[in-house]
Amino acid sequence: MSSTQTTLADMVTAIASGDIRVIDLSQTLGPDTPVIMLPPEIGKNSPPLSIERISHFDDDGPAWYWNVLTLGEHTGTHFDAPNHWISGKDYADGGTDTIPADRFIGPACVIDCSSETAADPDFLLTADHVQKWEKEHGEIPAGAWVLMRTDWSKRTNGDEFLNADENGPHSPGPRLDAVEYLARERGVLGFGVETVGTDAGQAGMFEPPFPCHTIMHGANKFGLASLTNLDALPPKGAVVIAAPLKIINGSGSPVRVLALVPGH
Ligand code: MN
Repeated sequence: MSSTQTTLADMVTAIASGDIRVIDLSQTLGPDTPVIMLPPEIGKNSPPLSIERISHFDDDGPAWYWNVLTLGEHTGTHFDAPNHWISGKDYADGGTDTIPADRFIGPACVIDCSSETAADPDFLLTADHVQKWEKEHGEIPAGAWVLMRTDWSKRTNGDEFLNADENGPHSPGPRLDAVEYLARERGVLGFGVETVGTDAGQAGMFEPPFPCHTIMHGANKFGLASLTNLDALPPKGAVVIAAPLKIINGSGSPVRVLALVPGH
């Protein structure tokens, strides 16, 4: 066998034996899954998921069960493609159907912001914070997913998850300098979060608004939102697999995100 064949054979053996564990970073998707709420004055909102039964071993289909789903592309645990944002709309390989498939697999760097977020739900990750992480764990490699752990996924109540008051939603995210550093200095694959979107709850009022979407997608990078189980990942060493549905000119899609981690 070639060494590449050996590597792949070793990988499946290790998954079967538990030497490599597969961690599910996806939330269960259902009608109660919280969906981002935009202020109506800035745009139209996405509906929650609805599930319509076609048949369930009955007159409409005696031996089979299936449903029709109605949902927005950006519902639940989902992938943001570059063409989701005006800054990334012109990339020839920036839609869910045109992104090269090898970009759906990459190493992950997990930055733990859970204690800062517990103290301040509007916590913003800065470039300085990222550089402190690099001093401890080494440089973030080009092509890596950077995942912001906040433990926000432990908020299982939809209202607490969106955490809105009269001033809009309050949830953590990256500051402009952090996403500029990651996109331009480090050439990351994308930025992933546990919250409903990759930008902070208050980011519509930032300058520029929604800096993570603006900078990441403007640099042909991706986003992952509503992740869970980031607390089960090592700071470095996991491999993340996140492949959106191949929707024609899709701006994103719900996605089953898997992380491969050392079992021991
Ligand atoms: Mn999105």
